[in-house]
Amino acid sequence: MSFLATGKVNYPARIKRAELLSARHPFAAKILDFYAHVARFQKDFYEQLPKHWGKQPIAPPDGDLRAELNLPVVLNSFGAFLSLIESNAPGPLAARARQLRMQGETRCAQLLTEYWKAGLLESSSVDQLDEFLARAFFQPYGEFIVAAMLPPVLPMTVCRCPRCNALPLLGVLRPEGDGGKRFLQCAFCSQEWEFRRILCAHCGEEKESQLPVYVAEAFPHIRVECCDTCKRYLRTIDLTRDGNAIPIVDDLAAIPLHLWADENGYKRIQDNLLGT
Ligand SMILES: [Zn+2]
Ligand SMILES: [Zn+2]
Repeated sequence: MSFLATGKVNYPARIKRAELLSARHPFAAKILDFYAHVARFQKDFYEQLPKHWGKQPIAPPDGDLRAELNLPVVLNSFGAFLSLIESNAPGPLAARARQLRMQGETRCAQLLTEYWKAGLLESSSVDQLDEFLARAFFQPYGEFIVAAMLPPVLPMTVCRCPRCNALPLLGVLRPEGDGGKRFLQCAFCSQEWEFRRILCAHCGEEKESQLPVYVAEAFPHIRVECCDTCKRYLRTIDLTRDGNAIPIVDDLAAIPLHLWADENGYKRIQDNLLGT
């Protein structure tokens, strides 16, 4: 596993990329402008964490991200996050943020603790609006702790995040020699780990004839990697085609790929934050 090749957390770059893609893809402008608001909060939160915490968080036992939650640190910033959502989100989400803020700190603590323990996939008790709030809020927090841990050493066939057990959001192809190495990127904490090129990240299918790859003209650097065995698909951002792409942001702009997959009967392994 090559660690240096994987992505670094860089919020200023994400914000800039969102602004650029918003101008380039008018159909995604609304989504990306909202994302940029969220990312500006995430950047501030990320930068404040070392102050609250000391220089580095202590790595959780067994490398399991969800083993511990620093509740005072997260509560300290959650109110500001809810206010930001109130001012910038579409109606129902803004209303939910306001309601949570009015319900007070005990209710917020309960929601955050519950979500942190349950993780991304098993959070069926959490409704969609709450899931958005918790997921967007925890992203920088998870990234901060993961960045302080040693990289995981794994076989290249692991389909779930080694840190938090969430499903992969994306594949990322990073330049390596003449081709590219594929990594999976966690949908919750953004941990990346290396993964075989020809292998379904959902069911483990490895027959190349069952794994068609589609690329749309509008997004030449985004591979829609499908599996005809389980009918799931993974979007892989190909950095060998566009070295300026920021996977997490370019993915949000690729709304037409979502529609295409729907029409063709493929379901994404894990949706992104804004369901695009
Ligand atoms: Zn993770
Ligand atoms: Zn599959």
